[in-house]
Amino acid sequence: MHVAVLGAGSLGTLFAAKLRAAGVPVTLIGRPGGHLQAIEREGIRIHQTDETVETVAVEVTADHTAVVDADWLLLAVKSYDTASAMSDVADHLDGTTVLTVQNGLGNAETIAEFVPPERVLVGTTAHGASILRAGHVHHAGAGETVIGRYDGDNGPEVDDIASTLTEAGIETVVTDTPRDALWEKVLVNVAINAATALARVPNGHLVGYPAGERLVERAIEEALAVARADGRSVGDEVLETAKTVARETAPNRSSMLQDVEAGSQTEIESLNGAIVDRGEAMGIETPVNRTLADLVRLAETLAED
Ligand code: NAP
Repeated sequence: MHVAVLGAGSLGTLFAAKLRAAGVPVTLIGRPGGHLQAIEREGIRIHQTDETVETVAVEVTADHTAVVDADWLLLAVKSYDTASAMSDVADHLDGTTVLTVQNGLGNAETIAEFVPPERVLVGTTAHGASILRAGHVHHAGAGETVIGRYDGDNGPEVDDIASTLTEAGIETVVTDTPRDALWEKVLVNVAINAATALARVPNGHLVGYPAGERLVERAIEEALAVARADGRSVGDEVLETAKTVARETAPNRSSMLQDVEAGSQTEIESLNGAIVDRGEAMGIETPVNRTLADLVRLAETLAED
């Protein structure tokens, strides 16, 4: 089995290193530059939360044709880059299965414009990672990864991919309803990311203050109505899940907060923005999510100045 990982950012670097450390042949495809050069020279350094550091030699390249030998491709770019990343590799994929572990709505649909839908796997992961410096990735948190076929039955291939990930320390379960799992994570992100990015507060403030709780409740309530109208089976307990996540990650600064502070593009269009769009298409009002999305879009314009 040969795996290609597309996107040598936080998550792609972590997953490529963990797979390779478990003996899986992996090629990590990223942008040319210092990060790839550092990995070529010295391997990937995984910094664990207990401050241990593991070094793993991983084959890296900036050449998208490297996907040609892969049995499956792990897509680990931000959701706004999904279409361009897929168009970079599409001509070199021949029967290759593509697994997305990205956050947000619409990634699988976009991938399915480039490969047959039955070759697309939808995933979510509770692992957390961030790049410390070139060649160094912080493994900030572990948790379950859930995968399943976007269209059609899972079958032995999906079980094999889940086993490979699990053996690499990325505990993975197969589900027949991966879109429900994705929506659940989206609902949590919709509640936490935009509000923390705009208020410039760590996650815990959303459950520590009434204003935060109100935002979480209203954003989720609207998004849950959209999820259900979209045919997804998501229980009311997702509200408690979001609050628990905010509580358990209280000191953390959400990825969207980090993006806004860095003047970078955010994944707002595939989160609150996607809730608004889907709601609008189904006649569901989403004023809180619309306001959150517009404010984040406005914050993003600072990057253009
Ligand atoms: P990231 O650190 O920004 O990494 C994405 C990488 O992909 C960047 O290095 C980017 O390069 C590169 N890239 C984009 N298009 C490319 C292309 N066509 N060819 C080669 N490289 C390309 O993002 P991330 O944090 O790893 O997140 C990736 C996805 O996983 C997101 O949807 C995120 O929400 C999700 N996720 C992340 C975590 C986490 O802890 N990090 C956890 C769960 C889920 P440039 O920046 O130069 O464009």
